[in-house]
Amino acid sequence: MAVTEPSEFDFSVTNLPLKLFINNEYVDSQSGQFLTVHNPKDATLVSDQVPLAGPADVEAAVLAAEKALPAWKKLSNSQRRDMLLKFAALIRRDAKLLTQLNRLTHGAPWAGFGGFEIDICADTFVYNAGWIDKFHGEAVPTDEGIMQITRNEPLGVTAAIIPWNAAIIMIGEKAAPALATGNCFILKPSEKTPFAALAVGNLIKEAGFPPGVFQILSGDGSTGALLSSHMRIRKISFTGSIPTGKKVQEAAAKSNLKRVHLELGGKSPAIVFDDCDLENALTWCVNGLVGNSGQICMATTRLYVQEGIFDKFSAAYKEKLEERANTMGDPEEEGMLLGPLVDKLQFDRVTGFIERGIQEKQGTLLTGGTKQGGSVGYFVTPTVFTNVEPGAEIYTNEIFGPVSILNSFKTEEEALEKANALEYGLMAGIFTNDITRALRMASDVESGLVGINCITLKMLNTPVGGAKQSGVGRENGRAALEAFTEPKTIMINMALKS
Ligand code: NAD
Repeated sequence: MAVTEPSEFDFSVTNLPLKLFINNEYVDSQSGQFLTVHNPKDATLVSDQVPLAGPADVEAAVLAAEKALPAWKKLSNSQRRDMLLKFAALIRRDAKLLTQLNRLTHGAPWAGFGGFEIDICADTFVYNAGWIDKFHGEAVPTDEGIMQITRNEPLGVTAAIIPWNAAIIMIGEKAAPALATGNCFILKPSEKTPFAALAVGNLIKEAGFPPGVFQILSGDGSTGALLSSHMRIRKISFTGSIPTGKKVQEAAAKSNLKRVHLELGGKSPAIVFDDCDLENALTWCVNGLVGNSGQICMATTRLYVQEGIFDKFSAAYKEKLEERANTMGDPEEEGMLLGPLVDKLQFDRVTGFIERGIQEKQGTLLTGGTKQGGSVGYFVTPTVFTNVEPGAEIYTNEIFGPVSILNSFKTEEEALEKANALEYGLMAGIFTNDITRALRMASDVESGLVGINCITLKMLNTPVGGAKQSGVGRENGRAALEAFTEPKTIMINMALKS
């Protein structure tokens, strides 16, 4: 069997990072509890020794962060910037190791999502490093004898809880703005993909971050709950599902009213008009569904196609997805672009939606509907249902796998109403050559991100986040730095003479 990227590393269990990273040291968990992870391509055991951080571990990390905070806040801009830049360079240097560690339990092929994350993560550190000496406050014209200055102050000890689907990208999205703005930061990776995060401990040290500034605690929901309810953590930046996001917000409210940033789920609509560039719309809609095997918060999973091109679109969509299905398989095999779903739980959830969709005739199956790989790996063929009833569960739920619904519409008003009908509002795409209509729709669609002739896309330098139940707050761009700081207003009485 040909292998796309021959592994230069020995990934036997002894080489896995199996310790917490606290105060710049790799340490055993004091909880004595461990997590188990499998390789989703064949369900083989990867490790049952991943440390689960418990109350004593969380407390140790918070104490170390509190100790580090005063000096870290006062560090010069250039010193902090250089550490972030060095960390970005180290991430790139160790790209293969980090990616391979992540792929062991994520399952994404190198040529697909697997090889895609490192650069985004490193770029995010570079981007935020560039802000450090530019993210300043304001001096307000003197009013009634009082001059005002605002400063962007770090929040203190902050933490992030992240999901498994983009475990490397999110190291950057969360840690970079937190550290750039002078916060100490604790990262809790998902219990399903802990290894890349645990492995960056050495890089944190090598980049020169002082002990306690940047720490990694692996764990599951119980660790997340400890962070969310901690009385001295001042902010949680959370990415994950809507139900868990609500628990985090509740725990924050019941503890110390810590700031909560929520990046949650989606069911992103593509609205495809008769006058669009069909080939372009198809490319974005196909990529937007199958990328990372559908495990993307802003995946293109609701398609509304105007009546005039519906038949043509659906035939071509089916054909292209079936071509892509041929690139689903063993992530180590050459030519594979699509891997398995992350684990059995996710596999059962996604296939459950598909089976009920077929059995209950929630729509007409256009393509897919099968499990690939039988009981061995967690592969699911890209699946599309057409003419789906708006109340059906496959219509209203985020499935988080390669499953979409494809319905038709007549008018712009109808398309907008359908797009806005759900509680999600993360991403929407408008495909049309009529720029006036595109801009009108873009302003009326209830979504944090809107693509015109593109979809399932976010950029480093503009805010990313959800409307409605898809989230609270924004990351990326300047918004990410704002989310990790609070303005402090200083008032100077200009009338006072000595
Ligand atoms: P999840 O909500 O199950 O878990 C996310 C994280 O929360 C994990 O680290 C988990 O250990 C932790 N957690 C679980 N219970 C907790 C609790 N009670 N308190 C605190 N933390 C807890 O989500 P998932 O299945 O890992 O990820 C998939 C979800 O993430 C999807 O809904 C997807 O849309 C969403 N997501 C959103 C974005 C975005 O930017 N909006 C990006 C990626 C993924």
